[in-house]
Amino acid sequence: MIYINNLTKLYGKYLAVNKLNLHVPKGDLFGFVGPNGAGKTTTIRMLCGLLRPTAGDITVGGCNMVYSPNQFKKSIGYVPDFFGVYDNLKVKEYMEFYGSIYGIDDRTVAKMTGDLLELVNLKNLEEQYVDTLSRGMKQRLCVARALLHNPDLLVMDEPSSGLDPRARVEMKEVLLNLNSMGKTIIISSHILSDIAEMCNSVGIMNKGCLVTAGRMQDILSMGVDKNHLIINVKSNMDDAVSHVKELPDVSINSVMENEIIINCSGSDEEVNKIIMSLMQAGVLIGGFRKEEQNLETLFMQLTSQAPSAMHPVNGMQSGPMPGSPVNPGVQPGPMPGNPVNPGVQPGPMPGSLVNPGMQPGPMPGSVNAGAQSEPLPELDFLKEKKEQDNTAQPNTEGGDKI
Ligand code: ATP
Repeated sequence: MIYINNLTKLYGKYLAVNKLNLHVPKGDLFGFVGPNGAGKTTTIRMLCGLLRPTAGDITVGGCNMVYSPNQFKKSIGYVPDFFGVYDNLKVKEYMEFYGSIYGIDDRTVAKMTGDLLELVNLKNLEEQYVDTLSRGMKQRLCVARALLHNPDLLVMDEPSSGLDPRARVEMKEVLLNLNSMGKTIIISSHILSDIAEMCNSVGIMNKGCLVTAGRMQDILSMGVDKNHLIINVKSNMDDAVSHVKELPDVSINSVMENEIIINCSGSDEEVNKIIMSLMQAGVLIGGFRKEEQNLETLFMQLTSQAPSAMHPVNGMQSGPMPGSPVNPGVQPGPMPGNPVNPGVQPGPMPGSLVNPGMQPGPMPGSVNAGAQSEPLPELDFLKEKKEQDNTAQPNTEGGDKI
């Protein structure tokens, strides 16, 4: 679905993204994580055609950003990290406004608005003013408008930032639902537990470099030998330490006053063996717990190293992408059809109502505002969902009452 090849971005002399290679298969829910300033937003903005790369190349759904810029953008729905609110604009007007940018006529937008609002749990809110919505609702509205042109790929920059736990759960549900309908989703976030829970693939960025990327399970199992067993020792610690040193396949991570931390695989069998062996050696154990590798511990390990010391891991990372039509890194000149100056906030959108600085420039997927509308994409994924819902729900019309 997405092939990113040697993508590079220089802001002046500052290397924000450094030869990034990534392949995200169709249907993935891909989590993009990294510390502040790692280059995630820069990468996402290049992926959406909002920022011109210094070098490199991106293909989405077979459309190359250089050779088919309009098709490329049509296949992407972008949800930025910042929701610009227009004063005195109702939800339905907001959707109409974006519909017009996408070149969709008002009548069709009105129909799609109902469906999309239902999909993001904002049913029947067409008449509500956008600036009265909660932050979580605004974010979901943003998702709805990014879906207006029925893109195959949804790209979201920190959609859960600043949301309360309930709003985060609601956003997660919406994303999982969309993913189950076949949308490929890329989501950047600092909330690693959410990423680990909902994404099936992940990429970790640090200092402009992609440190690792791959299936979530593979990435999480990268450091299984680094699991910790933490044992509370009630008797003589020296005895415990010397005994552990004699055990095969384990090592001591650290020793504190009452606790010994052991590096081990963390399997139940191994933990049993260690505990039994200590007990048989007369060590009095007050308790123990496992500290398993998770995305957070891995993130901390990988992002505390210098990028040069890091290694790409697996099949998702690769060299030049198959079928890539451009020689990346060689011709970083202006891309035909790219409407946005690199590194510069885009100007007002055609038909923009107020405060142009609040909204990004031409939307990914946008066709010329005010242009004749194209044949509308069939929202197959919505139709399928409705059919599923209809079959799932019992028909109560004239049926049995409880
Ligand atoms: P965060 O998690 O804080 O949003 P990020 O991973 O999204 O960070 P970017 O916003 O892509 O990181 O920024 C990467 C680097 O590029 C940072 O050092 C940032 O200061 C720099 N940068 C971003 N935009 C510009 C710009 N327009 N001009 C100059 N430097 C920039």
